[in-house]
Amino acid sequence: MKNPTTALAAAVMSCSIAFSGIAFAETVGISMPTKSSARWISDGESMVAQFEEAGYDTELQYAEDDIPTQLSQIENMIVKGVDVLVIASIDGTTLSSALDQAASMGIEVVAYDRLIRGSEHVDYYATFDNFQVGVLQAGYIEQALGLENGDGPFNIELFGGSPDDNNAYFFYNGAMSVLQPYIDNGQLIVQSGQTGMDTVSTLRWDGSVAQARMDNLLSAYYSDEEVDAVLSPYDGLSIGIISSLKGVGYGSDDLPMPVISGQDAEVPSVKSILAGEQTMTVFKDTRELARVTVGMVDSLFEGSDPEINDTSTYDNGIKVVPSYLLKPVSVDASNWESVLIDSGYYDMDDIR
Ligand code: BGC
Repeated sequence: MKNPTTALAAAVMSCSIAFSGIAFAETVGISMPTKSSARWISDGESMVAQFEEAGYDTELQYAEDDIPTQLSQIENMIVKGVDVLVIASIDGTTLSSALDQAASMGIEVVAYDRLIRGSEHVDYYATFDNFQVGVLQAGYIEQALGLENGDGPFNIELFGGSPDDNNAYFFYNGAMSVLQPYIDNGQLIVQSGQTGMDTVSTLRWDGSVAQARMDNLLSAYYSDEEVDAVLSPYDGLSIGIISSLKGVGYGSDDLPMPVISGQDAEVPSVKSILAGEQTMTVFKDTRELARVTVGMVDSLFEGSDPEINDTSTYDNGIKVVPSYLLKPVSVDASNWESVLIDSGYYDMDDIR
């Protein structure tokens, strides 16, 4: 017969072997910038659903566009022991210390939609073709005004996204790749003379900031001129710009709404398109972005190569981050139903 002490030790050992054999789900820390825009709510919901379906636990936090809040939320996730981080940054340059801490604990990082800059500890980047977003917005303006046929001159004003968001430069540069030749040849006139991201950007993508800037542009440069087009990079800005335009009488027979672009196919903008105010938006299917991200995380844990399709575009200042770029889709009054309703992204009740 075994000595009881040895038997007890053996029992404890077998118990702890059995315990370590239990498969614990890996936890994905998901840090999103804000709930003030519906797209990030969809991103969060899609990721939680898809990660949980794939067998992960999730910890989802929103930082309400406050940089210190996002930093401390990420630090807390690290301390709580998440196994991987998926981050859509508010300011792409402010996370280096948290990412150093994550790396020292073996936590890998996927930059989600927005590139994280200035850190070597960004393993992958899941996003859309951000340059193409700008090309779609400006290409729509080009076509709506007949610029390719030589029509013009037309007045245009330009808005950019948040200067701390790497995407904002891609959107602007994509748009200007289409518009600049028409500005140079005089078919497009920027009455305010305000061009370039250092002049036209909109901190934190804030619609009220865009609205106030549009108010100023209208009163300073458009008492004798009409605005024919507005390049807006995001639906939330477009809605602010439209309020400003309506405030001085645009949207009537005498003074039609200019061509106004947007991005994200947010419900108020889809409604605005149907009401003949905003002209177009760019749809980015957040369910697809979540799918790509879950695939990347799976690969990180399996030690296999994730699905990537771009290894040259997204230099974060320290390294080129291997990326997967999804295709954005232009949406207007002619195709919104097939793109947004038939795909199940929205229900008809959301819009009508
Ligand atoms: C996203 C856009 C969004 C914008 C404002 C960008 O980083 O790519 O989809 O419109 O942030 O939230």
